[in-house]
This record gives sequence, structure tokens and C-alpha cells, in this order.
Amino acid sequence: MKPAISVLFVSFEAAPFAKVGGLADVAGSLPRALRRAGADVRLVIPDFQDIAVEGFEFENVPIPSDWTVGIDFRPYSFRVRETRFPDGTPVWLVGGDDFFARPGIYNAPGGEPFGDELERIVFFNKAVVEVMKCLEVDVDIVHLNDYQTALIAAYMRRLYGNEERLARPALCHSIHNLAYQGVWPAERIQTMGFPPEDARYPSPFEWQGMINLMKTGIELADMVNTVSPRYAMEIQTKEFGAGLEDLLRGVSGKLRGILNGIDTEAWNPATDSHLKYHYDTGKLSGKRGCKAALLKEAGISLDRLDLPVIGMVGRLVQQKGIDLILEIGDALLATDVNLVALGSGAKEIEDGLRGLCARHPDRAGVKIGFDEGLAHRITAGADIFLMPSRYEPCGLNQMYAQRYGTIPVVHEVGGLADTVTEWDPSTKAGTGFLFRDAEAGALSDALGRALLAFQDKRAWTELVKNAMAVDFSWERSAKGYLEFYAEAIERHRGGKSA
Ligand code: ADP
Repeated sequence: MKPAISVLFVSFEAAPFAKVGGLADVAGSLPRALRRAGADVRLVIPDFQDIAVEGFEFENVPIPSDWTVGIDFRPYSFRVRETRFPDGTPVWLVGGDDFFARPGIYNAPGGEPFGDELERIVFFNKAVVEVMKCLEVDVDIVHLNDYQTALIAAYMRRLYGNEERLARPALCHSIHNLAYQGVWPAERIQTMGFPPEDARYPSPFEWQGMINLMKTGIELADMVNTVSPRYAMEIQTKEFGAGLEDLLRGVSGKLRGILNGIDTEAWNPATDSHLKYHYDTGKLSGKRGCKAALLKEAGISLDRLDLPVIGMVGRLVQQKGIDLILEIGDALLATDVNLVALGSGAKEIEDGLRGLCARHPDRAGVKIGFDEGLAHRITAGADIFLMPSRYEPCGLNQMYAQRYGTIPVVHEVGGLADTVTEWDPSTKAGTGFLFRDAEAGALSDALGRALLAFQDKRAWTELVKNAMAVDFSWERSAKGYLEFYAEAIERHRGGKSA
């Protein structure tokens, strides 16, 4: 029998252990889907202070005490704990008191950046490489995710190129969001463990006189992907390339777009433990129960139960296009609709949403914060799900929404364009509503079409059933990743890098 392909999947966050956004959902699901598809996968994440432990057992993996990570000539010890998902997929949590014994994942809980973000990244990245060495990890693929893990590529290719165990694996780098690139002044190259000339052109680190870790990952990986086909195309243009479009066009031969899947067990309206009522396409009445429960939770009178509920969940950052909603918010809420929103992020957007809801307290509710349960209850209880993102590498909420029969209204970009099709009342095909220009008027038009469709109960039920029938499971994506890995191995053997 052909031996299974073995993969070390490295991420800075993974559900359910530590979650900030979509990457956590991907890192918590994709390794398990790959395992179902026959791969031998191990997930590696930092051992943060606030790791969610419910239902998991952890064991310390012995590391010889003389193994340390050096940063700026100081040794730091690291430790490894192991746990497993219920299906057996192993997870290593790599920790160290100097960097992870504090609350917060990328930032402190109030959103304040950590002054030692780079040291945290260097520590984790170097420790992962040390773990591969001291625990004798032999894998075919090391799969890195976003800039926080990109230095692993540099350590493997530039520091340990003559160690078989570290030279052999092919490297894959996934871009989950190109807006976050990990940029530091050139002099920080020393903290990363490389000589000053590595920060000068031409080098995989150097970008416009600075160090750019996203670039490092893109350049050193054998294969690079984004999390939707449309975004893979978009980032090669000036509009979406965040300054890296020329670089990305230059490596288009190794750039792919593989659409994310969703965890169809955690997000299943028929069994979701966050919901009081359950439903499926055969019996939709539970969705009305969820809607009533949501209105109650949001402090909106049940007299408004027959009016559409518009839901929104997400990070409140510029990317998500919430400013468009704020622009039309008062006019929208002057009509017969309800709005329930959940999110946290930039203060001015949080304040904007709070203000909007405060002006329409009988029909709008917002919770500022992170609340997994409420995210599920909004996804189930709303009729319409709003996602006007200015750009969207993939987006998961619009997929969750469709699975829950909640109709997405989205900006036609990235993964939103790849996963939502416009409802056509004449053919009864489609699963949502899209708008092309990132403008309040275009959003208003698309919402108008959705609200009009909502009036026709029969047609709306068909639309809901269309949305619920779409298969967003990870199985299809896992197949895409296995092909992607095979290409990476081919390229690594052939010594190609662009
Ligand atoms: P991004 O990765 O850009 O944040 P995605 O749509 O890909 O956007 O994924 C966001 C994930 O994070 C979803 O699972 C969403 O439900 C969740 N999420 C975002 N904000 C919150 C919040 N305030 N409370 C609960 N879940 C949230």
C-alpha cells in the first residue's frame, strides 16, 4: 500500500483551542478532513494561556532540557503538550512562559498590540523547527499559514538546508488574509536570527526596505494558495494585492485558490448545541423558533416576528464593509425590518453600530464582544445575513448562513463571489443576493431585492432550501489540498521556486 502523505500543519490559531477568526476554523477542520482523505496530519499551534480544554486531555511530551530557542543571544526553553481530536488527529501545543503565559492571541485582550509580537513569532517558529529536530518528525509537507508561521520556511530552507529531516519536506504557504503581512524594520532581522545582509535587496525577507514575512513565506514555499479561487486571481491586481500584486503575479505558476469548507458537525442546524430549536430542510419550523428566541435575546418584541431579521456576525474592521451598513442603517431601520449584530474590533465601528441600534432600540440589537453561542443563534435565527466585505479571502459566515437557511446578501468579491449565487425569481435558482460596487447604494439595492423576495413566502422557502442544499463540506477542499501537496512535492524535488 502507498504510504499516506504526512503533513505538519502549523497555525497560530485553531478552533476550538484558540480562535480569533476564520483561520481558526480552517486549522481546526482541514487537518481532520485531510485525515479522512487518507493523509497523516499533525496540527501544531502555540500553547496560549487561555487554550480551551473542555473535552480534551493533554499530555506533556518530554523535551530534553538542553533544547532551547535562542533569540537575540538569549536561550528560552519551550515545552510541548499533546492532545487529540476525537477522531484521533494529534495536536501539539508548543509553549513557553516568556511569550505565551499571558492572555491574548495576536493582541492583548483590549486590542493593544504586544510589544514583543516579533519575539513571540520567532519563538514559536524556531520552537516548531526544534521540535521537528528533537522529536525526529519526518514529514512530506510542512504547511504554513499566514505570516505568523512564515519564518519556519526561512529556518528550514536557509538555516537547516543540510539537515535531511528539515530539507526533505516540501513547503506550502496558505494566505488567509493578504492585508496582514508582518512588516518590520530591516534591523529586526537579527531578532529573527539572520545576518543584516538578509534584510537587503535581493532577499526573501526584503520588501521596500523593510522585512515582510508574508513575502518570505510566498517566496520560499514550493506552493502557495489562497482560500478561494476568486481571491487568488484578485490578489494579482493592484486593487486587491495590498502592494504584493507584482510579486504574486511573478509566482502565479505556484499560486492556487482552494475554497475553504466548513465544519458541518459544529455548524448543523439539526443538532447545534447552541440552539434551543432544531431544523432541517424537511422540517423548517424550528427555524421560526430560533428566530423568536433570537428576537427575545436581542430585546426585540415578538410582535415583530413576521418581519425579516437581518443578521451580522464578524470582526468589526474596515475590511468587513460595516461602514456601508452604517451609511444606510437609519433608512433601512425606518422600514419594517429588524437587525441583530455581533462583533468586536475597531472602536469607531463598534460605536457606530452601538449608536445605530440605540437610535432604533425597538428593532435593532447589537452585542459588542466575542460570543460563539450568539454567533450560532444569529446564523440560525436571522432571515438574511449581511456581509458587505470590501474584500474577502474566503469568508465562512456566508457559508454557515446558507447551511442554516439564512440568505446571504454579499459584496461580489473573493470567496463571497465563489459561494453565493444570485437568486433568480423566474427560474427559482440561486442562494442569495450580490452587489458589485462597494457602495451604499449597491448594497441597498441588493438588500431591497432580498426584502422583496422575503414578501413571497413560497418563493422564499424555495430560496432557503436552495441555500441549505449547497455542499460546503471540507471533503472537496481536502481533495484540492492533496493535489496541491502533490504539486509541492514535485516542485520541491524539481527545485523550482516560482
Ligand atoms: P475572518 O477570518 O476575516 O474573521 P471569516 O468569515 O472567514 O472572517 O470567519 C470568521 C469566523 O469568526 C466565523 O466563524 C465567525 O462566526 C467568527 N466570529 C467573528 N467574530 C465573532 C464574534 N464577535 N463572536 C463569535 N464569533 C465570531
